[in-house]
Amino acid sequence: MAITRKTGGKAHHVEAGRMDIVTKTRLANNSQPDSNLIYGNRRTRIYCYKICSSRTPSEDRIILFHNPADAEKSGYRLCSHCRDAMERNLDTVKLADRICDYIKSHYTEKMTLSSIGEAMGISPGKTGRIFKDAMGVSAAKYLDEYRIIRLREKLRSGSSVSAAVYAVGHNSLSWLYTDSRSKLGMTPSRYRKGSRGESISYSMADTYLGKIVAAYTDKGLCAVTVVDSAEAAEEYLRKEFPRALLSESEDTHQYIEGILAYLQGSSVNIPMVPAGTEFQLRVWSALRTIPFGSTVTYSEVAEMIGRPLAVRAVANACARNPLPLIIPCHRVVRKNGELGGYGLGIDRKKKLLEQEGSFITGARTDA
Ligand SMILES: [Zn+2]
Repeated sequence: MAITRKTGGKAHHVEAGRMDIVTKTRLANNSQPDSNLIYGNRRTRIYCYKICSSRTPSEDRIILFHNPADAEKSGYRLCSHCRDAMERNLDTVKLADRICDYIKSHYTEKMTLSSIGEAMGISPGKTGRIFKDAMGVSAAKYLDEYRIIRLREKLRSGSSVSAAVYAVGHNSLSWLYTDSRSKLGMTPSRYRKGSRGESISYSMADTYLGKIVAAYTDKGLCAVTVVDSAEAAEEYLRKEFPRALLSESEDTHQYIEGILAYLQGSSVNIPMVPAGTEFQLRVWSALRTIPFGSTVTYSEVAEMIGRPLAVRAVANACARNPLPLIIPCHRVVRKNGELGGYGLGIDRKKKLLEQEGSFITGARTDA
């Protein structure tokens, strides 16, 4: 599956009409629905999403677009099958959003597909199906991951492991200790120690992006940010590691130098220990495969991790990336060519992409 494209001055736009081998393969391989690929029929002036059930036009009639706006601009109309499918999809997404809200506001309670379905006015089976389709994970898994986010907050603010587990709606510690490595990125006691008494070193350097702060344990890099002042750096570290033993140190591991080299296109080998849920870790490792000079869309990242509909969940995972710059979430943009959000500020995202040659000044940047 082709997930990257060299933009070479033509930011986020596939040259219309070009039919390369990768695209041919994508069109031929129907087992991998590619919701991004859009093709038009030059004769009928109708365009379709690749997943459309109608017959694909012959090769000499096909024209490719990178997004619907491009197709519309060229005078193409969306096919009626695709329009219906999109509307159904939109309803599903809206309902899934409501289910997400429900789960988030009831996460301390016992919850089943029946109780969620009852609140939504639909059957348990439909609840499960719709949620999985739109979010790429089951409602149970989503609830689990949300509880972990809350649990981590509680552990970081000094709550005991058992109190934190009960507070997020579980009455047994076994929930946490089953597979805790993937839940917390480490064992619960180590996670808690990480915020109370564990030594975390940090280094800072003034760069063209601002003051880069790199925080690390003896296992590797655990947090990176860019701030404007030493005060802001301190505030960030205190908030991120409220109970750790923080000490500033020389950048002897050359973490910051490594980050800067990486942003110039060098391949570097930096040990990283980002803490996150299983889903977040999968997104972050997918981001690390996006090469210098390329961008992908949030939907493409969702496809890369095998959950094509979980676009919003992917965007959330990007927003929670604890190691920006070195886990290059700045290389993820919106489908319509807009830059999307960025934890370190949209100006920095623009600067990074300009420097990597994958963004032209003057393109739309409204987020
Ligand atoms: Zn269609």
